Amino acid sequence: MLQAPPAEPGMREEDVETPALLLDLDAFEHNLDTMAAMLAPTGAKLRAHAKTHKSPIIALAQMRRGAIGQCVQKVAEAEALAWGGVPDILVSNEVIAPRKLARLAALSSIARVAVCADGEAGIAAIEAAAEAAGLRMTVLVEIDCGAGRCGVAPGPEAVALAERIAGSRHLVFGGLQSYHGSAQHRRTPEARAEAIGAAAEETRRTVEQLRQRGLACAIVGGAGTGSFAHELASGVWNEIQAGSYAFMDADYARNEDPPPFRQSLFVLSQVMSAPKPGVAVLDAGHKAVAVDSGLPLVHGLPGVTYAGASDEHGSLKAEDPSLLPKLGQSVRLVPGHCDPTVDRYDWYVGVRKGRVECLWPVAARGGMA
Ligand code: PLP
Ligand code: MN
Repeated sequence: MLQAPPAEPGMREEDVETPALLLDLDAFEHNLDTMAAMLAPTGAKLRAHAKTHKSPIIALAQMRRGAIGQCVQKVAEAEALAWGGVPDILVSNEVIAPRKLARLAALSSIARVAVCADGEAGIAAIEAAAEAAGLRMTVLVEIDCGAGRCGVAPGPEAVALAERIAGSRHLVFGGLQSYHGSAQHRRTPEARAEAIGAAAEETRRTVEQLRQRGLACAIVGGAGTGSFAHELASGVWNEIQAGSYAFMDADYARNEDPPPFRQSLFVLSQVMSAPKPGVAVLDAGHKAVAVDSGLPLVHGLPGVTYAGASDEHGSLKAEDPSLLPKLGQSVRLVPGHCDPTVDRYDWYVGVRKGRVECLWPVAARGGMA
C-alpha cells in the first residue's frame, strides 16, 4: 500500500514523521554536478543506475546534467522510468521470463530499450518476445569480467553470442555489458585498480575480436561508484553505470579513498523511548534501514553509535550517556547500504537548510518483477 507522504513542503526537518527517507538536496545536487564534471573531459558518458534511486524524477535530474540514459536491473524499474518520461533505458541484467520480456517490448513504443543476455536461451527468449511484438530489440552480451556473477566468458564465447544476436531478424547487437561488481568495495585503490585492470584487458580483447568480425559495440557499459575512475582511465568503457554516487552510504565511506561525493541520503528517525539513563531507542530498525553492509552510522552526534537493530527498534549507545539524544529528538542515520534502504520507502523527503522542499515517490519500489 502506498503510504501517505510523511511530510509537507515547508515543514521543518524535525517535524517530519519518522522513520523517513531524507534526501539532502544540496548534497545530492553536489554529487550530480561532481559526476558530470568528472565525466566531461573523458570520452565516456554516464548511464546512471536507477536500481539505486528507482525514481524518474531523479533519473531526469541526472539526464539534465548530461547522463545519456539510465540502467535498471528489473522490468518494473524500466516501466517506472519509461512511464515517467525517461527516453533511454538499458536493463543491465538478464531477463528470460516471456511475460517480462513482453512488457519490456511494449515499452519500446515510448523509450529506447535494451537488455542483456549471457546465453542462447536468453537470446532465444528475447527473440521470441521481439517477434511477437513485431519489433527489433537491442541486446547486449554480458561478459563475466571478474565478478563471477552473470555473464558469458569474455572472448570467443561472447563473440559467438554476439554473432547469434546480429544474425537474428528480430534483434540488434547493442554491445557489451561488463560490470565488475565485487571490485566496488575493495578497500584500497590498489586492489580496485588491479581488479579493473584485469577486467579492462578481458573487455578490450573481446571488443577487438568483435571488431575483427565486423561487429561494433555501440555500448561498452559497466563501472560503479567505487571503481569508475579506473574504468575511465582504461579508455575501454564508453558508458559508466554508477548509481550510489548520488546518495552514498556508510559502506562506500569505508573505502580507504572514498569517492568524492557527499552523503545525501539519510534515514530520519526519532528517539521514541529513553526509559533510563544511558538508554535511547530509535524508531528505525531492520524495516527502516538495510544492514547487509553494516549498521547505520549516527550523523552529527559525535560519541553516539547505533549499536543494534531489531525489526522496529534501533538502540543507541554512548560511553558518555549525556551525549545521547533526548526523548523525541530526531536523529539522522547514514545507511550502511543505500539501494536496499531506498527500497523500504514510498517517498523521498527532499530537504534543504532544514526545511522540506519536495516529496518524490520511490516509483519502482519493491516487488519482484
Ligand atoms: N551496474 C551494475 C550492473 C550493477 O549491478 C550496479 C550495482 O550493483 C551498478 C552498476 C552500480 O553500482 P553502484 O551503485 O555501486 O555505483
Ligand atoms: Mn549497492
